[in-house]
Amino acid sequence: MKKPNVLLKSTMITTLLLSSTLLVTTPIYAHTENQQLSYKTLNDLLTDDGHSGWSYSGLTGPEYWGELSKDYKACSKGEEQSPIALHNEDTSNEKWSFDLDYEETEFSIENNGHTIQANVEGSSSNTLHLNNTEYNLVQFHFHSPSEHTLDDEYFEMEVHLVHQDHNANLAVLGVLIEEGEQNETLAGMWDLMPEDQGEATETITLNPSELVPSDLSTFQYDGSLTTPPCSEDVKWSVSDSTISLSSEQLQAFQDLYPNNYRPIQDLGNREVGFHY
Ligand SMILES: [Zn+2]
Repeated sequence: MKKPNVLLKSTMITTLLLSSTLLVTTPIYAHTENQQLSYKTLNDLLTDDGHSGWSYSGLTGPEYWGELSKDYKACSKGEEQSPIALHNEDTSNEKWSFDLDYEETEFSIENNGHTIQANVEGSSSNTLHLNNTEYNLVQFHFHSPSEHTLDDEYFEMEVHLVHQDHNANLAVLGVLIEEGEQNETLAGMWDLMPEDQGEATETITLNPSELVPSDLSTFQYDGSLTTPPCSEDVKWSVSDSTISLSSEQLQAFQDLYPNNYRPIQDLGNREVGFHY
């Protein structure tokens, strides 16, 4: 991220020079708009593959994602975005039947610059059935604090188990994580997680069902990826109960990613369902 910052600085200096010329005739509130416009131009310059750098703060943070690339339009213009605020009163109607079947699986561990992610290695059978569609687990990763809120409360972390069907449609299971007992399942992964961007040399083997509360009930809704390009048609299931990790484990993650969450998005016309 160093390169864009240097470029950003020089562009901002240019913008400041331009703005000060404009300021002679324009009121001061035009400043923010200028900054946003100049940033669009900056990213046009930076984007040679159509995918711009994004982050969780400042001018590449969530409120600007939609401006960073034409591929990220859904981040600002989408109408079914994630995460959302969940409420325990939203527990009336089931949207989809839900069946989870996980097994012991080998994962590679990656620091991808936005989170720590475990990618399924080789073939495995970790299925999520929503109605008649079968989705297979591809990866899981973490956010801190949580992205979804429950009765307006944030949790220390949230794990997203990302599944794909054979048409590449996505279904994500989100599990909220609270500070408490040490998480033995995550201990091995935490030992391996790379401090810098890249993949750990060793893999881990675990059963992802250990990351899911045994008395799993889920909120269900249609949403999106919570990172650019914020693509929609993602089927979300979010657990209403939590798993735990120790304060040391929380600290170890936050040393790398203290703030990798997207703020709550409008529910709009969507209805949240619930599976017991
Ligand atoms: Zn996520």
